[in-house]
Amino acid sequence: MVNFTCPACNKDCIPLKDKYAMGYWMTRRCAGCNSLIANHAILLGVLTFAYLWNLLFFIGLAQFNQSWHYFGYMLVIWFVLDLINIKYVPLMIIHRQ
Ligand SMILES: [Zn+2]
Repeated sequence: MVNFTCPACNKDCIPLKDKYAMGYWMTRRCAGCNSLIANHAILLGVLTFAYLWNLLFFIGLAQFNQSWHYFGYMLVIWFVLDLINIKYVPLMIIHRQ
């Protein structure tokens, strides 16, 4: 099981499902030190525009070209964006305990 490092206590106690949830603007408490943490807000904001672009661009293509296969491209790019979100967006402390 992959764990991520808490920015407050530097222990590897953030599970993958919590890191994934924080990629969608949620907050979680560290199991080790109970600090409130989230994904870095500015980077997450940039990434949210990428998610939105992905959604609107491929829905638009599917609409104009009358073809469903663009939704396949959308899912692939969505998966890549999720990987970037999990791997490269750092965590930040909202409230240190
Ligand atoms: Zn912690």
